[in-house]
Amino acid sequence: MKILTGPFEQIITMNGLPLNGPAGDDRLEIIQRGGMVIENNRIIDIGGFENLRKKHTAEIEEINGSYILLPGFIDAHTHLCYAGSRSRDYAERIAGSTYREILEKGGGIYDTVDHTRRASFRELSDLTEQRIMKHFENGITTMEIKSGYGLNTVEELKMLEVIRHLDKRTPPDLVATCLAAHVVPLEFSSSEAYLTHIIQDLLPLVREKDLSGRVDIFIEKDAFSPEESFLYLSKAKKMGFDVTVHVDQFTSGGSDIAARIKAVSADHLEVIDDSHIRMLIDQDVVQTVLPGASIGLGMPFAPARKILDAGGCLAIASDWNPGSAPMGDLLTEASILSASQKLNFAETMAGVTFRAARALSLTDRGRLDIHMKADFVAFASNDYREILYQQGQLKPAIIWKNGNKHIKHT
Ligand SMILES: [Zn+2]
Repeated sequence: MKILTGPFEQIITMNGLPLNGPAGDDRLEIIQRGGMVIENNRIIDIGGFENLRKKHTAEIEEINGSYILLPGFIDAHTHLCYAGSRSRDYAERIAGSTYREILEKGGGIYDTVDHTRRASFRELSDLTEQRIMKHFENGITTMEIKSGYGLNTVEELKMLEVIRHLDKRTPPDLVATCLAAHVVPLEFSSSEAYLTHIIQDLLPLVREKDLSGRVDIFIEKDAFSPEESFLYLSKAKKMGFDVTVHVDQFTSGGSDIAARIKAVSADHLEVIDDSHIRMLIDQDVVQTVLPGASIGLGMPFAPARKILDAGGCLAIASDWNPGSAPMGDLLTEASILSASQKLNFAETMAGVTFRAARALSLTDRGRLDIHMKADFVAFASNDYREILYQQGQLKPAIIWKNGNKHIKHT
């Protein structure tokens, strides 16, 4: 059955904007008093509401009031499947302790690993579902979620199975990524032994159970070295996984691995330099910046403006995690990044829509166009500029996922 939804004050389609490099607000396609025709979860027509009403025999889902419509947001990097809180770490950090000092005291990530391992499937699923639904109500209709707090075969599989379970149970699409190589677990004496264990024991099961098609690794001084990461990712790629990497957050050296391995995306990039930005562009690697981690850690943002000006494909993701990015509010984080890095509306929204889709190798979402998924969000306003101006305080009032309308508040 065809449904015509509208009219909307402005539909910002995101069509015509480039996949790479700068994009001006003057290039935004804005349909005034627009509508969309949806059939079988897809957009089959888009344009002026009155024209569509004449052209199609469709059930009309009339929208009363002034709304701005955008594609549903895509968060290409989260760790929102976890148990426990790290508020104690946060208190210590804002009182002056460093990330490393907290880690050395046995806090940090190992605390989350401990809580996540001790949580039952049901407990972990309930906690994760609450976060997914909060994210969905803030307009995130597709979200990536990483494992990485299990750090052994049984517990990593538990996390990935929770994500799959919730993909069926909750409205948004969930993209699972295996981040077993997050940090070396305390039970292993060397990173080499642990990576061998993942390759030999875990990844074949992930494939067999079809739990994830993506593998990630944290390349950093306290985690895995660039050289061993390259070997690990090469093996994962041979097994058929797409690869993505955490690089250049505190120390540089990881982004050339991302380029050499031709990762789908290189994420973090707070300390990346010009030559490495170029290297990633040359290999067509999406550069995903994570402002939530900079806000959580009180550190400078990744050089998003430079990445765009060099011609990069810039995605913006929340990195929602209990340690460094507890806020988990993608629109607020992207708004703050845009003010700091001078990203205009088109560039900021591209980073959380079609460019984020690219970071997840998805081509059927992120723009409002014919054949695209009917995933979109409506803000109660008559001017799109209000969205970034209100810095995340103006939330979507209505969210559509696969054409199904979810009203949050009117
Ligand atoms: Zn991360």
